[in-house]
Amino acid sequence: MREIHCPQTYRIQKEYPIYLGKGILEEVVKRIKPFQPNKVIVVTDSNVRKLYGEKITSILRETFPTDLIEIPAGEEHKTFECYQQLCHDIINEGVSKKTFLLLMGGGVLGNLAGFAASTIMRGLHFAHIPTTVMAQVDSTTGGKQAINLPQGKNLLGVFNDPQFILIDIDFLKTLSPREISCGLAECIKHALCQDEAFAQELLRVLNPEARYTEEQFISIIQKTIHLKINVLRMDPKEINEGKILVYGHTIGHAIETLSKGKLNHGEAISIGMVAAAKASVFFNEAKKNLIEIHETILKKAGLPTKIPSEITIEQIISQLKYDKKIAPAGELVLLEEIGKIHATEGRIGDPVTADQVRTVLKECY
Ligand code: NAD
Repeated sequence: MREIHCPQTYRIQKEYPIYLGKGILEEVVKRIKPFQPNKVIVVTDSNVRKLYGEKITSILRETFPTDLIEIPAGEEHKTFECYQQLCHDIINEGVSKKTFLLLMGGGVLGNLAGFAASTIMRGLHFAHIPTTVMAQVDSTTGGKQAINLPQGKNLLGVFNDPQFILIDIDFLKTLSPREISCGLAECIKHALCQDEAFAQELLRVLNPEARYTEEQFISIIQKTIHLKINVLRMDPKEINEGKILVYGHTIGHAIETLSKGKLNHGEAISIGMVAAAKASVFFNEAKKNLIEIHETILKKAGLPTKIPSEITIEQIISQLKYDKKIAPAGELVLLEEIGKIHATEGRIGDPVTADQVRTVLKECY
């Protein structure tokens, strides 16, 4: 088992542990014990419950009084209504400040239940057991807990850190190839923005069938987490260097919202990264092969690189205006070259106008 130390959002000199390995789920008891909970409540989604609900509760019940709460699976349930229902369910279980919440699932479950855990009684102890690649490499580190509003993604949320994260790659055995590829989109993002050698390594191992050995999973997950932690140490609140984390996400989030569930997060940001690469070449004089490298690596991972024809340029522009992502208030994060983010006098993020975005989007179909 590997142990990685992640800086807390508010006190980066303080850290919480991330345990990474294979077949390590039973470790969870040892990791919860120091918090001396009077009860553990597992929060999971309907799919993960079917696969792992029995297993996790039987492990925990040997040591702690344990309850399990299920939320419906899927991004469409990352809503205020589902958050409210979850808060009711948790409080109705008879919660106190000594209750420990164990959040087991993908990015949707972790974000939504993390927001509930952070707000019920102004914050309860909680830990993540991420069960998708997306949640293992990205959504559980960095302390961003959020839900969507009808107007857009992650509009209601807080920064708050878990007590620990336990990543067991055995969960990935039941994950569909599509979901594996989607999670790898965030690994590719970190490689493209921060680490050219990692990008080369990904080019060698990625495959559209999403077949990976356990060693490959461990190596990719560990490298991605380390790259994310490097960013979090500099800027956990994404004021400047932290904007690396949203590379490809500006246009990606707009496309994700407009696709109404057809594209999931990883697929949408894959298209968003190609758009960001094109913007880097058109407006920032990055070399033309930047686009080709993006397309090659994302296609190798089985990810889409083009905007679906039913989503129009004007719909994307309206969505970006709504989210204030177009100048004068908005900006795009651009690259200079693979592994190097573009900064003007140290400031990351280039203002873009609606017309500039239109020019880029025309080339993305
Ligand atoms: P998800 O949580 O919807 O999970 C994908 C699907 O896989 C779901 O149907 C789920 O039930 C199922 N599943 C989960 N684990 C499984 C397993 N082991 N075996 C079989 N099926 C399993 O989606 P996701 O891709 O994990 O997360 C996407 C979400 O994460 C988005 O809402 C995105 O905004 C968020 N996110 C947040 C951050 C952050 O920093 N907070 C970063 C990246 C992504």
